[in-house]
Amino acid sequence: MAIRTIVQEGDPILNKVCRPVTQFDQRLATLLDDMHETMIAADGVGLAGPQVGMLRRLFVVWDTTDAPEEIPEGYEYKFIDFINPEIVAVSEETETHYEGCLSFPGHNGAVTRPAAVKVRAQDRSGQWFELEADGLLGRCIQHENDHLDGITIMQSSDYFYEDTEEGREAARNAKEN
Ligand SMILES: [Zn+2]
Repeated sequence: MAIRTIVQEGDPILNKVCRPVTQFDQRLATLLDDMHETMIAADGVGLAGPQVGMLRRLFVVWDTTDAPEEIPEGYEYKFIDFINPEIVAVSEETETHYEGCLSFPGHNGAVTRPAAVKVRAQDRSGQWFELEADGLLGRCIQHENDHLDGITIMQSSDYFYEDTEEGREAARNAKEN
């Protein structure tokens, strides 16, 4: 496994639409394993293909559902790989929460999204599965899925701001108005 370079803000690759994955081979497995390692090393909960320079419809998330608050040494992370994902249903109810993105370090956005989603995707062997998710996992799936269509939190945020005292203050003011 290897840690890959995370594509940063300003790189046009982040606004491109990804192509479907057609080969379910060792190269794909290596890419996914590298993405797991890269995401954990960067302290993230999700990472999409374009963020490591791969314009393919895939992303990985860390399923934090049963994770302890403090991650012990040698912890076995539970990852879910989503290949060629499609969001097939969304809840009517929406929620607005702050999100960060490994491609926009030091920035946050308040993003309004459906509170729950149903997603259909293939795993690394090409097997289709369906998953319903809400909370952090549901939000993470929607954030990563947006990346596959070239949409970042800069576009999806109600307000996008630098994570500084001034930035947070401006965000709070925007919320009140
Ligand atoms: Zn992101």
